[in-house]
Amino acid sequence: TDTTTMAREKEAMSNSAKRFRAGAEEFTFQAEVNRLMDIIIHSLYSNKDIFLRELISNASDALDKIRFLSLTDKEQLGTGETSQLEIKIWLDPETKTLNIRDRGIGMTKDDLIKNLGTIAKSGTSAFLEQMQKGGDMNLIGQFGVGFYSVYLVSDYVEVISKHNDDTQYIWASTADGSFSISEDKENEPLGRGTLIKIHLKDEAQEYASEGKLKELVHRYSEFINFPIYLQTEKE
Ligand code: ADP
Ligand code: MG
Repeated sequence: TDTTTMAREKEAMSNSAKRFRAGAEEFTFQAEVNRLMDIIIHSLYSNKDIFLRELISNASDALDKIRFLSLTDKEQLGTGETSQLEIKIWLDPETKTLNIRDRGIGMTKDDLIKNLGTIAKSGTSAFLEQMQKGGDMNLIGQFGVGFYSVYLVSDYVEVISKHNDDTQYIWASTADGSFSISEDKENEPLGRGTLIKIHLKDEAQEYASEGKLKELVHRYSEFINFPIYLQTEKE
């Protein structure tokens, strides 16, 4: 009907408005990272499930880091919910996103810029080379570029992060050569840690199913030393 079309257009407009946040700073991806993202976003690789393994692994690494830091500096852990070293995963029907949040170390503005786009790791070119030889996408994590596998299922990703040494920032990219960084004025305060908001591609709508997520979380939580909660919709 006309009303659903209008609602869709309105939603598309508010989504694109968010992609161009006022006061956001734009950064270009390092050239090899850019090439890698291009390959991933256009990949026909069928086992897209692996993106969740990579994001859970990053969440777990971040939790390890804050736990280690808190051994010598107890204050770093924070209080209340912030001190609970856990991972939460949920679907948000309103924003049509898959969300993964950890209470790990988080990233400062500088960390976001360096770790997610401007500094290539040695593994970046090595993985590119492997992919050109017909190598397996599944090995992405071993090359230290696992994060970018999120673009197997998404064409727009937001990384919201709060580190103890900085305020909360949003990193956002549609994998089109650049990413933006802005101070977060739209999301709930995280306390500390990272929230990855995955806007699923049309072809990846299978990940908007709780059944599918349950199966994946079960599969990938085996060697993770922190609780992972899959929040399901309440009646
Ligand atoms: P790797 O995990 O092998 O270092 P990734 O591509 O998976 O490579 O991640 C790149 C970097 O981004 C990580 O090393 C880390 O510094 C940062 N990062 C990614 N996800 C998170 C997270 N959830 N919390 C904190 N830092 C993160
Ligand atoms: Mg990783």
